[in-house]
Amino acid sequence: MRYAILSDIHGNLEALRAVLHDCAGRTDAVLCLGDTVGYGADPLACVELVAEQARATVGGNHEYAVAGRLGMTWFNRYARVAAEWTQQQLDEDHRAYLGALPLITELGDATLVHASPAQPDEWDYLVTAEDGFAAFASFATRWCFVGHSHVPGAWSLGSAGPEHHPGAVRLQSERGRRYIVNVGSVGQPRDRDPRAAYAIWDVEAGWLEIERVAYDVSTARHKIVEAGLPRFLADRLTAGS
Ligand code: ZN
Repeated sequence: MRYAILSDIHGNLEALRAVLHDCAGRTDAVLCLGDTVGYGADPLACVELVAEQARATVGGNHEYAVAGRLGMTWFNRYARVAAEWTQQQLDEDHRAYLGALPLITELGDATLVHASPAQPDEWDYLVTAEDGFAAFASFATRWCFVGHSHVPGAWSLGSAGPEHHPGAVRLQSERGRRYIVNVGSVGQPRDRDPRAAYAIWDVEAGWLEIERVAYDVSTARHKIVEAGLPRFLADRLTAGS
């Protein structure tokens, strides 16, 4: 069984289509770690495509904000403008659907969560080595897949000690070790690589690989500007930051 694990699509339909094309034929099912909306110009199309294709989906802070379950006061200016715009693009049913997504779920030997498994509704970022190591006590599965920071990386814990792999690209799991993996962002990468990021996880073989996919950035940019969203949100796609 091979899963494509997608996170932080953020309304970027060009990136989402490129990733779904890239994983088709190489994976058996799609998992989604939230923030399907916000920032990009195609929230509706992205929500519908993910709802149609994903075997399991958890909600992110952007879903919860758009659904009215999370105040926007702590969002920065760009995120707030985008979330308010996104709210208007979605009808009542779509907002209710997003607001009803679980924040954390288990699938086989994996935990899926947008932010941290410790307190999913606190929206903490796992960035440093310590952030990741501290989170292991909060889930019981062998794997935990997260998004939220838009930066791929991995942490593992076992009898040989803790390991942190910032920018991890390929992992082969070892007996007796557990893993947290940030799969990066499909629609708004922030690791200075503008290509869409997602993970392929082979359950039986025990490996995981972060894939990068070039997509039509200029169309995604153009749509953001045309929608009247902040130009910064278009520019950062080119920089991948
Ligand atoms: Zn995000």
